[in-house]
Amino acid sequence: MVNDAVINTREAFIEYKKISPAQRIIFLQTIAAEIIAVGPTLIPVTHKETFLPLARLEGELQRTTKQINLFAELLKEGSWVRAVIDIKENPAVDIRQMQVPLGVVAVFGASNFPFAFSVAGGDTISALAAGCAVVHKGHPAHPQTSKIVAECIVTAAKKTNMPPHVFAMVEGAGYEVGLQLVTHPLVDAVAFTGSYKGGKALYDAASKRERPVPVYAEMGSVNPVFILPGILRQNGDDIAAKIISSNLLGTGQFCTNPGIIVLPPLHDAGKFLNKSSELISASKGGAMLTGNIHSSYSHGIKKLQEHQRVRLAGKGIEANEDGIATPHLFVTDADNFLKDETLQEEVFGPSSLFVETNDKAAMYNIAANLQGQLTATIWGTDEDLKEYEGLVHILEDKAGRLLINGVPTGVEVTAAMVHGGPFPATTDSRSTSVGTDAIYRFTRPVCYQDFPQFLLPDALKDNNPLGIKRKVNGREER
Ligand code: NAP
Repeated sequence: MVNDAVINTREAFIEYKKISPAQRIIFLQTIAAEIIAVGPTLIPVTHKETFLPLARLEGELQRTTKQINLFAELLKEGSWVRAVIDIKENPAVDIRQMQVPLGVVAVFGASNFPFAFSVAGGDTISALAAGCAVVHKGHPAHPQTSKIVAECIVTAAKKTNMPPHVFAMVEGAGYEVGLQLVTHPLVDAVAFTGSYKGGKALYDAASKRERPVPVYAEMGSVNPVFILPGILRQNGDDIAAKIISSNLLGTGQFCTNPGIIVLPPLHDAGKFLNKSSELISASKGGAMLTGNIHSSYSHGIKKLQEHQRVRLAGKGIEANEDGIATPHLFVTDADNFLKDETLQEEVFGPSSLFVETNDKAAMYNIAANLQGQLTATIWGTDEDLKEYEGLVHILEDKAGRLLINGVPTGVEVTAAMVHGGPFPATTDSRSTSVGTDAIYRFTRPVCYQDFPQFLLPDALKDNNPLGIKRKVNGREER
């Protein structure tokens, strides 16, 4: 099944890469329109499969179709191909460069975003926008949802006369399907969102290929939050409410969930912790996406409960049903946190670990010893931020997105967004999986030297038939 899908998709790629940007735009817009049309039947199916609330799913579906249209806009504007032209007369030089698609991309859908990071999610759409063909590995947590969305892409391809196999979906229980896909000799790139274990296993399998290919695995993080003394004194209760509500959002099943909260060296930090514990103790859990995710959560909680140097400071109201994740808040101190790297492991769900510190140096030390993260947040007044400026410089080396006085959940789809970060948050810190720059994971630069005009891609012809912004002899022009 995998072999046939990849071979057919590879053949489709040869045709698809020649298709004009204008036709590709219509293809993307038609995918969005097909998904919008099936929305009313799709959402109840996804709700049944994932237990995610209907309102959340409606929002996520809108985000997904907006994301598709954003990539269509990117292609319309055109300058994403990064056309560069260097021409000199003496000595004669004619060198032109632009981005071209990589080929066949294997995409692994995520369990926690059945639309936005699944079949027609950011990975698939940025690959199709780049001119790549896609083989998608459907996530077993929402098989019917995946089928319906895959059908939307196939129908859109038919309606817009794309090569029929430009997109294919493969499914199957067990890891064999995924492993076959990443090791298939005709696959040119891999995109994954999920666990560290899964992402790293697929990365390791791909690294044994005879022909190496890029693997973009987004594997989550604990999204540390540092709270500075001045703002905690001024606004502690309000900040506690915001952080706890971000931690509980979607039953904690977001890769940007704030999991480590570093408290400042301040007597009032105790009050802040009490307020946070109160909020957790009054909270209720929710159903998790899959039985496996629930059992990993229970396992992570058990490990923290049994940890000698960690104490439980708050526990949500327990439900009488199975499969419900009860929120937890744990506390440790800086020394213990620094001594035990396992305390940095993601507990995927509504759990957080607060870390008490005695001085500024301890906060800096914690930051310096963090593993790679998707996000890092600092809460501070302007005075705090001036005094702790060094923290920003440390965290710049640790995370793909830095936030001041905000919560990391909620990842906007914009041109400036970075949803990525140093390992183990991802396997390639130079990339983002959200926002329009996600397209560059699936392209490479090609240089055309001394080409006759008729043979050049339109983006590089002298008369600029696409009317796109280009860099000509060092100057931006249209
Ligand atoms: P997962 O276990 O990483 O699975 C994601 C995909 O990778 C699935 O299609 C799975 O195949 C495949 N896979 C996993 N391990 C593999 C291996 N060793 N070899 C080959 N393929 C493998 O993620 P999940 O099922 O969504 O959730 C499990 C855990 O992942 C959660 O408890 C949480 O810790 C984490 N998670 C993180 C994020 C994030 O955003 N970072 C999102 C969701 C989940 P199968 O289809 O055969 O299972």
